[in-house]
Amino acid sequence: MALMTGEEYVESLRKLNLKVYMFGEFIENVVDNPILRPSMNSVKMTYDLAQLPEHEDLMTATSLITGNKINRFNNIHFSTDDLVKKVKMQRLLGQKTASCFQRCVGMDAFNSQYSTTYEIDKTLKTNYHQRFKEFMKLVEENDYTVDGAMTDPKGDRGLPPSQQVDPDLYLRVVERREDGVVVRGAKVHQTGIVNSHEVLVMPTQAMKPEDKDYAISFSVPTDTEGIFMVIGRQSCDTRKLEENADMDLGNREFGGMEALVIFDDVFVPNDRIFLNGETEFAGMLVERFAGYHRQSYGGCKVGVGDVLIGSAALAAEYNGAAKASHVKDKLIEMTHLNETLYACGIACSSEGYPTDSGNYIIDLLLANVCKQNVTRFPYEIVRLAEDIAGGLMVTAPSQDDFRNEKIGPYIEKYLVGVSSVSTENRLRILRLIENLSLGTAAVGYRTESMHGAGSPQAQRIMIARQGNLQHKKKLAKRIANIKE
Ligand code: SF4
Ligand code: FE
Repeated sequence: MALMTGEEYVESLRKLNLKVYMFGEFIENVVDNPILRPSMNSVKMTYDLAQLPEHEDLMTATSLITGNKINRFNNIHFSTDDLVKKVKMQRLLGQKTASCFQRCVGMDAFNSQYSTTYEIDKTLKTNYHQRFKEFMKLVEENDYTVDGAMTDPKGDRGLPPSQQVDPDLYLRVVERREDGVVVRGAKVHQTGIVNSHEVLVMPTQAMKPEDKDYAISFSVPTDTEGIFMVIGRQSCDTRKLEENADMDLGNREFGGMEALVIFDDVFVPNDRIFLNGETEFAGMLVERFAGYHRQSYGGCKVGVGDVLIGSAALAAEYNGAAKASHVKDKLIEMTHLNETLYACGIACSSEGYPTDSGNYIIDLLLANVCKQNVTRFPYEIVRLAEDIAGGLMVTAPSQDDFRNEKIGPYIEKYLVGVSSVSTENRLRILRLIENLSLGTAAVGYRTESMHGAGSPQAQRIMIARQGNLQHKKKLAKRIANIKE
């Protein structure tokens, strides 16, 4: 079964025995939970679209490992064309879900692991690359969704992993056995973990020799003994629990999710370990993963941005303000910003190059520039959307009031915009803007734009490293005819 249908995916999740907590309670049925279901629907879309002939080219790929047709989310990229298609696929998914569809973190982890394991083996004569390829076969054959888990809690940011007062603040090996290792620690902000079959753990930063026990990478099923998850709250999340809140949700079908994932002495068998103490390679893995995920944001955020720009244009139309020149100009500005992000996503992909292992990596400088822009432009796009929408996007009454026999007609009468559009439709588009800028989807579109795939400073460090200032100084000296 190289490609699962959306329904088969849902059924496969039902078979998992996840340990999930939310609002202080253990969640027995994760799949049908009304708060979590929209996030699963977003991942399901990655399966649904792969079944459609019109999206086959973007959504599927031919595996160079097995030769099978696979979902592109499980692809190891072997050309710049693959890298470009990845970004286009992510834009498409953003457009269809208007939220974080979660499956990219695993894809980005696969590609960074693929090349890093190859290079570790080449230097140290280990056997990680073959192991990783065996793991990828399993992922491809079962069309798994895999959570790529990188971010540790990190405690005191001024101290390295092994110097923390509590040694578990970075995930670490606590026991080494003949048949594998036992790990303890946590990963924070885990996107899509409850909708994933496997969790692929990586170290969170470059490491020194004394941090050997922290330089660990592996994959295990998400329902492995000792793993449990605590769901992160989102703004307005409990609206999803209300009956008849369809209008108030803005996006009733899709969403994202993040969780704190705790590894409470989890056993990892040898064949699932892809880095184990080789501290000198932790930085390579982190840098490559971050690069791929910074590329990703040039696709997913752009797709969600498309929905937001469309919502703002509709809000203007429904308000009767679409012809105002400043409104038109704001929509142009939003489009310009959004397409600039896309241009960065495509550019870093087109300028990709093969690693020693043969798979392709993005241009790291351009990928970091892409993500640096993502830490800014969506905020400006949201600001302009709010400007166009007007205050009603945060002061509109609830759906229950709107449907109320007595007061409903007054809401209908006084909150109307242009007479050709119903008050209900006007309120619906304003709620979608609210959802994207302040509600549940704001996690994915706003704050994640800032901190996801690394906070702004992380990109600035990479930009400084990749910017090649020496070369630029040489150019200037030559033109100015400076001889030393
Ligand atoms: Fe994919 Fe974007 Fe969500 Fe990351 S933030 S998992 S790239 S949709
Ligand atoms: Fe993310």
